[in-house]
Amino acid sequence: MGTFWGPDFGALERDDPEIAAVLVDEVARQRDTLQLIASESFMSPGVLAALGSTLANKYAEGYPGHRYYGGCAQVDRAEELAVARAKDLFSADHANVQPHSGASANLAAYAALAEPGDPVLAMGLPYGGHLTHGSKANFSGKWFHPIAYRVTPDTEEIDYDEVRDLALAHRPKLIICGATSYPRLIDFARFREIADEAGAYLMVDAAHFIGLVAGRAVPSPVPYADVVTCTTHKALRGPRGGMILCRADLAQRIDKAVFPFAQGGPMMHAVAAKAVALREAGTPEFRGYAQQTVRNARALAAGLVAEGMRPVTGGTDNHLAVLDLSDLGVRGHEAEARCAQAGIALNKNAIPFDPEKPAVASGIRVGTPSVTSQGMREGEMRQIAGLIGVAVRSDPATAAGADWLAETGEEVSELVRRFPFYTEQEVMA
Ligand code: PLP
Repeated sequence: MGTFWGPDFGALERDDPEIAAVLVDEVARQRDTLQLIASESFMSPGVLAALGSTLANKYAEGYPGHRYYGGCAQVDRAEELAVARAKDLFSADHANVQPHSGASANLAAYAALAEPGDPVLAMGLPYGGHLTHGSKANFSGKWFHPIAYRVTPDTEEIDYDEVRDLALAHRPKLIICGATSYPRLIDFARFREIADEAGAYLMVDAAHFIGLVAGRAVPSPVPYADVVTCTTHKALRGPRGGMILCRADLAQRIDKAVFPFAQGGPMMHAVAAKAVALREAGTPEFRGYAQQTVRNARALAAGLVAEGMRPVTGGTDNHLAVLDLSDLGVRGHEAEARCAQAGIALNKNAIPFDPEKPAVASGIRVGTPSVTSQGMREGEMRQIAGLIGVAVRSDPATAAGADWLAETGEEVSELVRRFPFYTEQEVMA
């Protein structure tokens, strides 16, 4: 091998100490506090190396072998590897690894499968859907005609009868399943049946759970969906970015919808980093990680029940849980702020049929991809549940509450010190 030139942190420190300090402080924040944001995880040093590489300098509009620029032989190899690894890992006919993000992947999928004004049926935002599933603030709700399905009030699980009724009444061009804060498995076979009956395409937005699919911890949507869109930076532990898997007959439409319709030049450093992550995701170690992520989420949810919180749908089958805090008399935004003060990063979250505004919310969402990549297991989840329980009940406006939050913060520090990662040699060598 020749010479690799990677990030020179010393040069940055010398030339731009302000930004160097941001990088140092963020490594410290990630290492020294607890990361329970369900859509985050920690990427490997290999993924980071590809991201910080000189591939970022290269313009490569087009696809391998058909570029609008010269000098693409090296980046072509990276993209061909990423595509081959994605197809192999997910048993997909076709993969497009160029989307800059999950939202960009969804824009391309809409563009490939529907026309502006077409009805699109997807889970409503208040029940766990994503902005790109029909929010009026987003292209999906402005340029398409969104129809929202919900969960049932009693089980809080997807109301498949309602999905079918809406599909037959509105005849959508596209039906979407896959969500941002839904803790249960989705019945892809049922969605396929409904889409076939209504003459619609089925798109699965697997942004949140594609890493669990890669690790064989949850069922794959690929055999059922016309198109699967996803992010690469959540439980898959790759770079920030998106990816689309589809059937062979839709491949050309998807490729044209990504470039030139939705995007210009691909980020070849991110494409190479996706290839690295996709190789890692095929290893036995990653399978162990994905399965432990689900076991940890179950243990964390059970621990939070013991703290007086109610898990939406009664529990979890994946990497996240949504907890209703109504019985504690604490609202989601207060809980988020209190936990932050104790060094625990999580987010407020609406519960189904939430009486509160989204900025207040009655619940919180917790996820286990990050803490599992640090090596934590069920015992630590029980400890974390206890820490969250104390933090959520501690009102910082009272002297006792402020003391509890400080004590909880110390316990968080002790816990994370037992699970070190991104040591100095790895990040700053
Ligand atoms: N789809 C779902 C279900 C998501 O949860 C998200 C992000 O959280 C996205 C799409 C968008 O991904 P990105 O933030 O990369 O645009």
